Amino acid sequence: MKSKILFQSDGNSYLQDVTNNLMLYLPRELLKQIEKRLNNSNSSIFGNSTYYERKADFLLEKLSDQRNVEESFSGRLSPEMVENTFANTRQITFELTERCNLHCKYCAYGELYGDYLPRQNKDLPWAFVDQLIEYMCKYWASSRYASVYKSIAVGFYGGEPLLKMDLINQIVRLLKEKSTNSLGFRYNMTTNGILLNQYMDFLVENDVQLLISLDGDECGNSYRVTKAGKNPFHKIVSNVMLLKESFPEYFKERVMFASVLHNKNSVSGIKNFFRKQFDKEARISEVNPVGIKYEKKEQFNSMYRNTMVSLNQAEDYDKIKEDMFVNDPDTNTLMYYLHTYSGNCIKNYRGFFIEKETERWLPTGTCMPFGKRIFLTAAGKILPCERIGHQYSLGYVDQDGVNIDFREIANRYNQYYDNLQSQCSACYHLKHCLQCIFQLDGIENKPVCNGYFNETRFQKYLSENIAFLCNNSKLYKKIMDEVILEE
Ligand code: SF4
Ligand code: SF4
Repeated sequence: MKSKILFQSDGNSYLQDVTNNLMLYLPRELLKQIEKRLNNSNSSIFGNSTYYERKADFLLEKLSDQRNVEESFSGRLSPEMVENTFANTRQITFELTERCNLHCKYCAYGELYGDYLPRQNKDLPWAFVDQLIEYMCKYWASSRYASVYKSIAVGFYGGEPLLKMDLINQIVRLLKEKSTNSLGFRYNMTTNGILLNQYMDFLVENDVQLLISLDGDECGNSYRVTKAGKNPFHKIVSNVMLLKESFPEYFKERVMFASVLHNKNSVSGIKNFFRKQFDKEARISEVNPVGIKYEKKEQFNSMYRNTMVSLNQAEDYDKIKEDMFVNDPDTNTLMYYLHTYSGNCIKNYRGFFIEKETERWLPTGTCMPFGKRIFLTAAGKILPCERIGHQYSLGYVDQDGVNIDFREIANRYNQYYDNLQSQCSACYHLKHCLQCIFQLDGIENKPVCNGYFNETRFQKYLSENIAFLCNNSKLYKKIMDEVILEE
């Protein structure tokens, strides 16, 4: 992989230094000299005396490589790293039940997908929760637990979590007992809102952050149906209105919405609906394209709608893009570009102290196991999050306790990295890779990564970002001022 890439954007020339995270604008004369030097490493321009020759010489000398990009991404996971991350996890999410009072057509556990074991209407046994919390308590009391004060997020997930209010009550009660001056818990829940009217007092009292799933107006919500095939739109909206009127402050601060984009709604329709109805913005995602059963591909294709395509069709395109900010796909890409290549962002505090030359990063964009969360399924499986197939569980809980083998997890991840190594080491996306290995088909053998960037694709990516930035120059300051990317 080359460490310096020349590219054009809107008739201008640039040099992207991949190793040092720098992008330089090149006037035509300087470009000529740099090209000459890059195309023929033996041709020295030392001794030449024109201004641009000396400048090219100076720049390339200053940007000379200490080591290549691939080398810096040759990190390996050790069992200790996995265990430390486990001890310091930011969130535990409980899949309280596999049951749901809706039967959404695009549900990740529904008929379209083959990645999950068939749902058996299981409820998460209290004993599993109790075992996991007790196990975690030992870590929170140990020296592995790094923070002086830790606030751990506890998520309630389903199925529909409000079907298991008894279990939620038990968990909250237990965690109140476990809270200390240096350890606290805060709660969040993803719900379809059908039972909201029955339990809103409890949710407000415990300051539970709510993410309500609703796909916009009545037509937009047509894939979210009851078991009898009815659209519950009016029931959900009336429950949400009741919550808003009864607890306006809580509603303002703690309630968010999530919508899935498909062929029965649009980005513009969703935005306008939530603004008008609840004075809120919704988080919009696409129907998950990973793990679709072969025989369901056609059904999926007719349902799937790409955010960019939908945005391009919006009448109020510019306004929506501005409102969406980093949720707009172009701005989102620019944000990652600036964070990775502008040279003006550091990843974390370590970046101030550790010499770039010695640091080894883990390949791919996969989170550290348990770095984002510990997800406990109703069947007792432990996963790194709720978005990946259950075949990738990292351990399990049963009546007898928690079973996690940190060495096996480290070995498994390292094997996954090895399986991708030949693609990753040649990929220009390496430094800003967002690809989760669990979202690739066939990770146990020879996965093919569609995110792979060869030189041409990378040049196009750089060129498009610079062109977009030139046309939206205010975004530079806004992104730098307002966005912090969590690791
Ligand atoms: S999708 Fe992959 S990278 Fe993202 S949280 Fe889950 S396991 Fe981690
Ligand atoms: S995009 Fe794919 S090939 Fe490229 S670095 Fe990431 S995982 Fe590897």
